[in-house]
Amino acid sequence: MRTKNRKIVALTWPDSSHVSSHIAVIWNDRMRFILTTIILISFSHTAFGQSAGAEFDVIAPPVCANNLGETVQFETVESTRVTSAAGMARRNEAGVPVVYRFGYKFSPPALQQFIDFHECAHHQTGDIDRPHPPRNSPEHMMNESIADCIAALRMRDEIDDGKGLLAEAVLELTKAMQAVGFPSLTTDSRVSNIENCMQKDTSSEDFINGVLIHRGLK
Ligand SMILES: [Zn+2]
Repeated sequence: MRTKNRKIVALTWPDSSHVSSHIAVIWNDRMRFILTTIILISFSHTAFGQSAGAEFDVIAPPVCANNLGETVQFETVESTRVTSAAGMARRNEAGVPVVYRFGYKFSPPALQQFIDFHECAHHQTGDIDRPHPPRNSPEHMMNESIADCIAALRMRDEIDDGKGLLAEAVLELTKAMQAVGFPSLTTDSRVSNIENCMQKDTSSEDFINGVLIHRGLK
């Protein structure tokens, strides 16, 4: 286990080469976890334009059921190593579908909301019960793009001023990815996927149904 403070803790979208030693220790690869978005470094508060130690209220989790109709539980995990919100979707040891929420109090509600929906989407699309594709493979990238797309549609349609909140979440994501050193091309393609999805003349339900049918899960 690393003890260095200034260590990129984890991120798997879209370049997952920095797998968190911390998280990998707790949840090893065999568990087929899907970990999202961003966890940043201990000095990242300033990079986010926040005063050091800024904390936010943690939002209530959204309604979430997986493709089998099972209710997904949300669990907030206290971690002293995480300084920005990140999530992980998987089944726990008892087989219950869960979204784990790390460091939520360190990120604004807009990003918390986006990550909740994104992680929920991995359950809704059946990703969790499918073999985990190799990191950074086209299939993995596609799963992440789909989860982002569903999150964008849900924020747009289910949240008051969802479009405004989504714009804020995208800004936070951008800052976070830049702070960790993603190439701007990578960040831009993620943002443009989210923005394209927001324009889609479809509901998240229809979009999810399309994915499940395509995968032979419906
Ligand atoms: Zn994801």
